[in-house]
Amino acid sequence: MRPPSIILSGARCFVGGRFEICSLKLIDGFIREIAPSFRATTKDLVLNLEGTAILPGLINAHDHLEFNLFKKIGTPPYPNYVSWGEDIHKQHKDYIEQVLRVPLGLRLLWGAYKNIFSGATTVVHHNKFYFDFLFGYPVDVLRNYAWIHSLALDDKLEKKLTSRKARPCIIHLAEGVDDFARSELTRLVEIGGLTKHTVLVHGIGLSLGDLAQIEDAGASLVWCPSSNDFLFHQTAPVNQAMGRFRIALGTDSTLTGNSSLFDEIRRGLQVEQVRPLDALAMVTSSPADIFGIRKGEIAEGRAADLLLYDCEEGDPLKGFVDLDVSKIKCLLRNGVPLYGDTSVVHSLQASGTYTSMEVLKKKKMVRGDLAGLMQSISRHLPAFDFNALPIEIEVSPKA
Ligand SMILES: [Zn+2]
Repeated sequence: MRPPSIILSGARCFVGGRFEICSLKLIDGFIREIAPSFRATTKDLVLNLEGTAILPGLINAHDHLEFNLFKKIGTPPYPNYVSWGEDIHKQHKDYIEQVLRVPLGLRLLWGAYKNIFSGATTVVHHNKFYFDFLFGYPVDVLRNYAWIHSLALDDKLEKKLTSRKARPCIIHLAEGVDDFARSELTRLVEIGGLTKHTVLVHGIGLSLGDLAQIEDAGASLVWCPSSNDFLFHQTAPVNQAMGRFRIALGTDSTLTGNSSLFDEIRRGLQVEQVRPLDALAMVTSSPADIFGIRKGEIAEGRAADLLLYDCEEGDPLKGFVDLDVSKIKCLLRNGVPLYGDTSVVHSLQASGTYTSMEVLKKKKMVRGDLAGLMQSISRHLPAFDFNALPIEIEVSPKA
């Protein structure tokens, strides 16, 4: 039986834009109270988290959850996304068909695990919203959105533009480095597609004039530096855009992007010299604001979506920049552990199915039957390389 409250005591929590030592009281999956400390009763479950940092569960602002069994394919650099698409459908036709033959449910579930191992509890999916996301899906997926693939490759462009309403409308745009890609924002403006609700993904070919138009419209950008690096050897002009409009960070699918949001954060810091605090905003408060998600911050009344990690060396921001799947102490969604150290998951008295495993020699547990999922995927796609995830995972026989 679940205790009446969980007290996460003495951690360095990211509250109100900075880290401070405090304690969180979780009740029924929500952060009920934040205080320097709590007087615990014998019924409370208390975790002493000195030396631990706590962030909100991260938000991956761009993914295609059904395409994460793919490896990166193509022969870059390409001038634009259309030439990449044409090339891979010609050169890798059989491989693409083979991956897409894996049942959709398995592919979507694998996409959720990719995000869990990235510390993400919320994902912005680009493509249709599948029913699978509603029933026992391990991470939250944004529901209230409109989406357009791109100006060139969406045969329902006009219909989608007229039916988008006042929802975030996500579109791949200026994904390339040639004139075709560079002219896309102008074309989007011409058809009335740039509003404060527009969320542009990629933006590699955006000019300074384009940035001014985006700023004037109050639109937003999702940045996927690794995917851009891979396809075009260039990324969006984020340094020129910082502070002018909202920017979030996403992995994209593994067809072109990194499988870890943590790697994506490091790539962003490297290529555009983004400050760590800005990178943190790009995976928490900024996407929450862009997409109207009531997550991405640690505050009373908010869902207890929390990312716990060790910061023994004392600098939680450096700990954030250095994060990888082995360093996640626990990832909670609505107060329930999705993944973490075996000792922490046990301490939280989590019920339900968990898979035991080792990640870089550390004993971990992840929610759900991951071993079964991997076996099912292997049956359909024997050549799939599970080590493509940024983890050395040895799934032991079911716990
Ligand atoms: Zn994409």
